[in-house]
Amino acid sequence: MSAVSINKTESEWRQRLGPEAFDVTRLRKTERAFTGEYWNNREPGIYRCVACGLELFSSEAKFDSGTGWASFYAPMARNHVGLEKDPSFDLERTEVHCARCDAHLGHVFDDGPRPTGLRFSINSAALRFVKKPTQR
Ligand code: FE
Repeated sequence: MSAVSINKTESEWRQRLGPEAFDVTRLRKTERAFTGEYWNNREPGIYRCVACGLELFSSEAKFDSGTGWASFYAPMARNHVGLEKDPSFDLERTEVHCARCDAHLGHVFDDGPRPTGLRFSINSAALRFVKKPTQR
């Protein structure tokens, strides 16, 4: 990814991102289940941060959670995502964000499948899918 400044004001992010991506990544909103672009995407490829392009999740770790949100059992690299306790709901959750630009992505739960037992529940609006080339 070419150098994308991650030190942007909120108005700069608002200009750069579409309204849905802005609401999710900067305002930490959650898209409605089964409405995102990728919850049912089964194509092989890489999911990058919509805001800064960092590689976040691989289709290889994607699974059908039945929740209506794109779900992964692991990030592509542990240091590409940041985790933060989110006490904004009665049920304490762990918030997931891009480690490079701080974009809010979704939440992680401990009811995922093997091998990690984790379920990264990610808003499609925070992602940009890049399909894997058929041959390389
Ligand atoms: Fe990012």
